[in-house]
Amino acid sequence: MATTLVDAPKSAAARDSKLFQPDLVFFEPDALQYPLGRELYERYQKQGIPIQMTTSHNQVRGIPGETDVEKYRNAKRTLVVGVRKTLKFEQSKPSAEYAIPLATGCAAHCHYCYLNTNIGTKPYIRVYVNTDDIFRQAEAYIREREPEITRFEAACTSDPVSIEHITGNLRRAIEFMGEQPLGRLRFVTKFHHVDSLLDARHNRHTRFRFSMNADYVIKHFEPGTSSFEERLEAAGKVAKAGYPLGFILAPLYWFDGWEEGYTDLLERLRDQLVPEAMEDLTFELIQHRFTKVAKKLILQRYPKTKLEMNEEERKYKWGKYGRGKYVYPDPQAKALRDHLEKEIARLFPQARIEYFT
Ligand code: SF4
Repeated sequence: MATTLVDAPKSAAARDSKLFQPDLVFFEPDALQYPLGRELYERYQKQGIPIQMTTSHNQVRGIPGETDVEKYRNAKRTLVVGVRKTLKFEQSKPSAEYAIPLATGCAAHCHYCYLNTNIGTKPYIRVYVNTDDIFRQAEAYIREREPEITRFEAACTSDPVSIEHITGNLRRAIEFMGEQPLGRLRFVTKFHHVDSLLDARHNRHTRFRFSMNADYVIKHFEPGTSSFEERLEAAGKVAKAGYPLGFILAPLYWFDGWEEGYTDLLERLRDQLVPEAMEDLTFELIQHRFTKVAKKLILQRYPKTKLEMNEEERKYKWGKYGRGKYVYPDPQAKALRDHLEKEIARLFPQARIEYFT
């Protein structure tokens, strides 16, 4: 199995943002009852990629590796094709009412990734083949809230664009939501592989967001994702295809020169973005946070990381299920917020900032 050196910063040119191709694929037997499950099985069989069966996508055993770190890296190159049985959607505040579960896991290696907390022990990539069940459930949630609009976030447990070439599920979700007068979809990505989504019948019911950051953060903490330039070019294509566009600036991170770094990011966005993107543009601002569980895993998995996670320099914020997290103390959080809000107002006067958290 391929292992990658994920601690080393890469230049934009050397980034590995190729389409993800798994080294090993597991199937749940039930997944083969669905057309997409069978299609994937035949595809990987033809390609000669090793296939194994697993009784449950929640308990996959047999991912190779001598050490925990090796197993982790190999898990990130392992695809699991399953049937989503839990059809109770999680809440997804503040960006949406519900998280719509299309996939779980991601092949990229962002050091700060929230998946270190959410799916810390199961980093393999799960895709679900029973989208009709998932969409039926979404419709039920939409009906419950009539006549209010109901928003669904498709990137709570994955980067859905990074695996779209495997399942096509994001396009299905976009087109499903395009037909829902009271349903809206949103998701965020760090990848530029958007071409298969450009002609989807979205009916402007999907907000397509890109995660952007200062050069320092992309360079040091986001191996395996598309470069800033690639994301920006993809954002232009998406805006030209008529999607409402958004940028999530996350994690907002305190580093030497952060003010200039974030101003530079916003100036480059403003200078290079196509005019179509400005019509209905949103920003979401999320400061860096970590949990104790995530910190332990991050330091094991990326031992050379420069990511600062010193509890003494942070503020503890209580969370659900005992998952409290460490955020910046109020003065630092306020400085980040004030600076970003000021610069967005200066450079994108027509854009809307949805929240800072
Ligand atoms: S691209 Fe998103 S989901 Fe994937 S590792 Fe990075 S932060 Fe996590």
